Amino acid sequence: MEEFDMLEPVLEDTVSEDGGTEEDEQATLSESDTPDKPISLFTIFVGLLLALAAFIGIIFVQEFSNPQLSRAKEPLAQATTDTKLLTSLQSAQDLPDLSLDSWDLVLVGPNYVAEEMNPELSEVSGVLVDSRIAEATANFLAAAQTVDPNVHLILGYRSLADQSGLYETFIAQEMEAQGITREGAISFVDAYFQAPGTSEHMTGLAIDMSTVDYVNLMDPAITAQLAAMAPDYGFVLRYKESYQAQTGVAAEDWHFRYVGVEAARYMTDYDMPLETFLTRIAAATGTVLESRPSSSAVTDQADVIEAEEQMDETTPEMTEITE
Ligand SMILES: [Zn+2]
Repeated sequence: MEEFDMLEPVLEDTVSEDGGTEEDEQATLSESDTPDKPISLFTIFVGLLLALAAFIGIIFVQEFSNPQLSRAKEPLAQATTDTKLLTSLQSAQDLPDLSLDSWDLVLVGPNYVAEEMNPELSEVSGVLVDSRIAEATANFLAAAQTVDPNVHLILGYRSLADQSGLYETFIAQEMEAQGITREGAISFVDAYFQAPGTSEHMTGLAIDMSTVDYVNLMDPAITAQLAAMAPDYGFVLRYKESYQAQTGVAAEDWHFRYVGVEAARYMTDYDMPLETFLTRIAAATGTVLESRPSSSAVTDQADVIEAEEQMDETTPEMTEITE
């Protein structure tokens, strides 16, 4: 608005140069439009200045009014660059200065078995989370509910004992329902429920959040919006289909993991799972990311996929308690 205020007296001057008064301003303006009357260079200059100011204004608004947008544009620009090397160099340069020992970067999964962590817990909207992420969780939930008011928390912290109890229950159910051995039942259950010591929910840093109470049944457009806003609150969508080889866990549209804002933005911008991110941090800090495989973890990916397919056909109701 400032530019227009400044230009008002200039425009009046231009009009009065043509000999018009305020009363016959309209007539004077149309007169100056006729080709036989040369437009003053000053008028052209002012016009160009105005256009330039508007252009800069638009660029400024696009760049700074929406930090999410400007961040999202970076990887897009890189993707269109035909050199993977450039992206690789850029990602190495952007790697946050973090340590593998950071409390919010703890890695738990089928290949990273953990003992009970006993985190200090706080309740957020009916679920328990590590107290250190209670505020971030509440803020993320509130933001997610502006996307869809049906978004709610389903699960936060789950103790190792509870995980073990449920795991054993499912194994017993599968053995009885299918008349199979314990080993057979374990490989079956591992496809839809995390073995004891391998679930991120025992960290208190993971939440299941969806519009519905079933995994992978949220509108994918909403999942995409939640995944895009998650880094602003320190979360990432943890189990994407494209991450399965690294995570060892099938895609889940509702499982978000707190890793801190800096790590979350990096992982989202460069589209990588926590395992890949921590491998990079380890390399950069001269440390080693040691794997701690679960004895019952299904290491053969083909077995996991096969078991999943069977599960889809036979026990669809089990998706409710996935992970
Ligand atoms: Zn989960």
